Amino acid sequence: MDGGGARLNEAARDFAAREVEPHAAFWERERTFPKEALRAAGAAGLAEVRLPGHLLVEACEVFEELAAADYAFTFALACHAGAAGVLARHGRDPEPVLRGDEVGAFCLTEPGAGTDAAAITTAGRSDGDGWRVDGVKAWITNGVAASVFQLYAQTEVGSGHRGIACFDVRGPQPGLAAGPPYGLTAGHAMGLSDIHFENCEARLLIPPGDGFKAALRSIDSARAIVAAMCCGMLGRGLEIAVAHVKQRRAFGRPLAEFQALQWALAEAATDLEAARGLTYTAAAAIDAGRDATVAAAQAKKFAPAAAQRHLATCIQAMGAEGLRDHHPLARHLACTKMAQIQDGTNEAQSLVIARRLLA
Ligand SMILES: Cc1cc2nc3c(=O)[nH]c(=O)nc-3n(C[C@H](O)[C@H](O)[C@H](O)COP(=O)(O)OP(=O)(O)OC[C@H]3O[C@@H](n4cnc5c(N)ncnc54)[C@H](O)[C@@H]3O)c2cc1C
Repeated sequence: MDGGGARLNEAARDFAAREVEPHAAFWERERTFPKEALRAAGAAGLAEVRLPGHLLVEACEVFEELAAADYAFTFALACHAGAAGVLARHGRDPEPVLRGDEVGAFCLTEPGAGTDAAAITTAGRSDGDGWRVDGVKAWITNGVAASVFQLYAQTEVGSGHRGIACFDVRGPQPGLAAGPPYGLTAGHAMGLSDIHFENCEARLLIPPGDGFKAALRSIDSARAIVAAMCCGMLGRGLEIAVAHVKQRRAFGRPLAEFQALQWALAEAATDLEAARGLTYTAAAAIDAGRDATVAAAQAKKFAPAAAQRHLATCIQAMGAEGLRDHHPLARHLACTKMAQIQDGTNEAQSLVIARRLLA
């Protein structure tokens, strides 16, 4: 890692301990979107991690560190930082997003199109001077507070992925409205909502023909980031469980002396290292400019499942104490289910892997 990566990593660790960990249970309980914490993350330099010039490996390390404290906040920051990166790569000023004055969002999914993203129906049409967009986007992270939208829309009915372009849409403006925040099993700090666009002004960011390819390329990186975040959650869960079993006693000895628990925790530690291996292999391949679609799909398939299985193991090893919300374990466990759906479901990862395997 270069000096910049080490600096950001340290900033992430410090930020997680000061600004995330102490508040995350409250954000979840009160269903709060932590906009001020996003701004503070910007001030700490953490939203810069997706700008051109930063390696994806560095970004994964930062998001792994932050997700150990809270997955939902970290996913919100990852989408926000991703929006700043896209603006910078397309010659637009990312500063207001980096500072947290504006919140960024990635808008692909619709009420009628998720996995089958080429079936989106939000329409983009040229009105001579510029572009206008109409449609509804669903499951938009940061939707409750966003004003910078990277919106994917169809520019030619019936042309499938070839007609999809990416637009830069800014709020507030007439016709643009967020729906109410979603009520969820967990992850309220992601600020999920629908976004309605009715005859909204839009600027073309990525033209038809390249828009869908760009979405797929960005999704490879997003999958590595989600995998890294799952490593962060599991890593923290394991640390907490190990500390607990060393001090808690039953039948006259520390829990750590029971072989059943030792084996369960050893399996968790092994799967954590396997998840990290897949994750950082995928991220390094993307950094090197190699085709990493399968590597990213494998990391995204493995790491959330490993985290889900073994966060449950960690809670089990702690008994009832593992369920208390002053520990992040139950919150992390609920978020592993979200990690198995966002940025492509498990089945979508299997499709990618099997298609290549059987080609
Ligand atoms: C917490 C969270 C945050 C999100 N944030 C964003 C965001 O910021 N921006 C955004 O655009 N989207 C976002 N999404 C949406 C996410 O990308 C979609 O949920 C995801 O792509 C899956 O789409 P779907 O939920 O509509 O499921 P569907 O596509 O309806 O799929 C339902 C089920 O069918 C399976 N399935 C579908 N097709 C196949 C097939 N060919 N073969 C086998 N099985 C199949 C799926 O794997 C799944 O199990 C978010 C989702 C979540 C949960």
